[in-house]
Amino acid sequence: MNVLEVSGLEVRYGHGARRKRALAGVDLTVERGEIVGVIGETGSGKSTLARTVLGLVRPSAGRIVLGGQDVTGYRARQWRALRRRGIVQYVFQDPLRSLDPELSIADSLAEPLLVRGIARAEAVNRAEEYLSRVRLDADLLPRLPGELSGGQRQRVTIARALLTEPELVLLDEPVSALDAANRVQVLRILQDLRESGVALVFISHDLGSVAGVADRIAVLSEGALVETGTARQIVATPSHPYTRLLVSSAPTLRAAPADRARREELRAALLNS
Ligand code: ADP
Ligand code: MG
Repeated sequence: MNVLEVSGLEVRYGHGARRKRALAGVDLTVERGEIVGVIGETGSGKSTLARTVLGLVRPSAGRIVLGGQDVTGYRARQWRALRRRGIVQYVFQDPLRSLDPELSIADSLAEPLLVRGIARAEAVNRAEEYLSRVRLDADLLPRLPGELSGGQRQRVTIARALLTEPELVLLDEPVSALDAANRVQVLRILQDLRESGVALVFISHDLGSVAGVADRIAVLSEGALVETGTARQIVATPSHPYTRLLVSSAPTLRAAPADRARREELRAALLNS
């Protein structure tokens, strides 16, 4: 079953002569429990796609089906109700802006549960449980976001997105603001989530970050999906010229194809000798 079906999605920003198309004819499905990467350079429309699926941007054409429900014509109030139910959650690039600086980690994590009518003791228990799922210690519960590293904060926002037990989490550049060590930790957590059965849409401008986590990858260029395939296909046999460019410019992926090319050259030389 698909948790997300987007078809023919089009988004335009602005009015009159300034009207600009940010997405055109985007088709994307995400199956239950699947991790789908969306990659593309800055300005390609990745955040617009995420914001449209969250009901924060209104599409000018196309259809969005979330958890089997056609939400295309939803009004702001219906979107708010849908988001409140917590079926779809999100994690953005900057964890400092998504956590209230004056709330302890315990309160930040408990809040989405308290608003759903869960008792405080139970909410704090659940907060602790989800903190351990993102490999953080319960010691952090009484702390303020400012006392945590960027990577710890991002793991808290991931825990918070998960504790309402959503079917789908959209992560928009979740590791882009992190240093290399923190990035690796967060990527590992996203890999761990495979077992939890939640579907993820992992958005990044960096193919290297997405390639090791995603089952499938969709490549966005100038508002259009130019190629979709398994992570392996996209990395090993990209078919669209733009995808080839992304693959050849991803530093962490470059080593393997270059080695392979060198091996093939050697083999050809051996066969000819
Ligand atoms: P990405 O996340 O891939 O960097 P965005 O979805 O943020 O891309 O932006 C896609 C295009 O839409 C860009 O050209 C951007 O300038 C434009 N855009 C994004 N948000 C708005 C907005 N609120 N108003 C007008 N234009 C916007
Ligand atoms: Mg963006």
